[in-house]
Amino acid sequence: MPKEEFLKMRERIIEIENLKNKLNKESENLTETLTENCPHEVVIETNYISYEALGYTRSPQRRCLICGIVEDGWGCGYRKLKKRPIKVVSSDVFRKSRELEPLVQTGAMIPKSLIKELGWEEKKDKK
Ligand SMILES: [Zn+2]
Repeated sequence: MPKEEFLKMRERIIEIENLKNKLNKESENLTETLTENCPHEVVIETNYISYEALGYTRSPQRRCLICGIVEDGWGCGYRKLKKRPIKVVSSDVFRKSRELEPLVQTGAMIPKSLIKELGWEEKKDKK
């Protein structure tokens, strides 16, 4: 490979890294704006879990499916996520909901039985 090719690759890598930084910053700013302004109306909840063998209990939690913020139900209790949850789910489903997935067009805000318990299905790519 000629020397210039290595230099070109190096320049391209620098360009890509700069673009990644710019996009990360934009994503952070959008996330901040979203969580600050979200009405938190699409909230799920998971019950507390008692791990008796370990002498440990995990508090109940709520997550807003739109902006993704999570709160614990104990201690000071729910502060931003006070609205009644649309569904109480297993801790498994709650964990799955952590990923920011495209919200499938369901008409109603989520259910369709919580979009098949958050397989998030229905990737509509009809071509
Ligand atoms: Zn929210």
